[in-house]
Amino acid sequence: MHSPIFSLEIFPPKRNAPVGTIYDTLDGLEGLNPDFISVTYGTGKSSDRTATARIAHTVKKEYGIETVAHLTAMYVTRDDVDQTLEMFRAAGVSSILSLRGDEVEGRDPAGEFEHASDLAAYIHETAPEFKLYGACYPEGHFEARSLDDDIVNLQKKVNAGVTHLISQLFYSTDAFLEFLEKARTSGIEVPIEAGIMPPILAKSTMRMAAKCGVEVPEKLQRILERWQGNRDALQKAGIVYASEQINELVAAGVDGVHLYSMNHPRVVRRIWNNVDTLFHEA
Ligand code: FAD
Repeated sequence: MHSPIFSLEIFPPKRNAPVGTIYDTLDGLEGLNPDFISVTYGTGKSSDRTATARIAHTVKKEYGIETVAHLTAMYVTRDDVDQTLEMFRAAGVSSILSLRGDEVEGRDPAGEFEHASDLAAYIHETAPEFKLYGACYPEGHFEARSLDDDIVNLQKKVNAGVTHLISQLFYSTDAFLEFLEKARTSGIEVPIEAGIMPPILAKSTMRMAAKCGVEVPEKLQRILERWQGNRDALQKAGIVYASEQINELVAAGVDGVHLYSMNHPRVVRRIWNNVDTLFHEA
């Protein structure tokens, strides 16, 4: 276990990609020793469940790394959840990131779980052996009326059984630290990991920031504009940016850093090389 916590996120290979590409990702991360690797979940189709469970199993059994399986609530029923929990148990998964998920156009929600907290409460009640993680939003969730409202809802998530939070990406370290202070003042005491997405591609960084309602500070805007035509330079600059964020966050005493790997092990490895001594083996 590192102090602060150091964790990574990976996603199942896209449907048309060879399934073996996940081994390239995991082999590329070999030796980094994160405290856990979380595995994302699609929009709730049964193939998503299998993919998440299968990759989580690989992470745990073949690579010996703790894993957290994501699970989204919007398009699943209680029966689906029961089956998924069974699948997760068989895969050796003992931690779940309970999420609502986002609306998929043209698809009707199953209507059984409205919020991530409803799913967390159901798992907490029916399968209390699972450790529950939840998502939080340093600049407020895009649907919330205000950050304060979102934090009130975050407290409901914790009351429902979530004992560990992971934040959405952010590029303003100050915004995260202000959120952290507000969350603590509101009585949220569980560990809160800072989610870091290295800004290595100009268009997708701007798109994600706009979609998630996340500020792009001027200094990052300048970097993106300066290097948008030079992939290598932007990758290097993005790695430096993410490393600096981590440096500032660790200095401020955060509980942990969750790196969105985007299945780019070389980027993760270069960031880790910049910051590894800031994390001690506890
Ligand atoms: P919720 O906690 O339900 O929040 C959604 C909105 O409802 C917020 O505005 C909140 O304020 C409000 N709200 C919450 N609870 C209540 C309540 N009890 N009463 C009233 N209002 C409430 N998506 C995927 O599809 N797959 C993934 O694997 C995935 N992984 C993610 C990992 C992380 C770390 C993060 C931050 C996000 C991830 N997402 C993933 C995206 C996530 O599903 C979306 O951000 C989604 O819009 C909200 O999910 P949530 O679980 O935070 O929802």
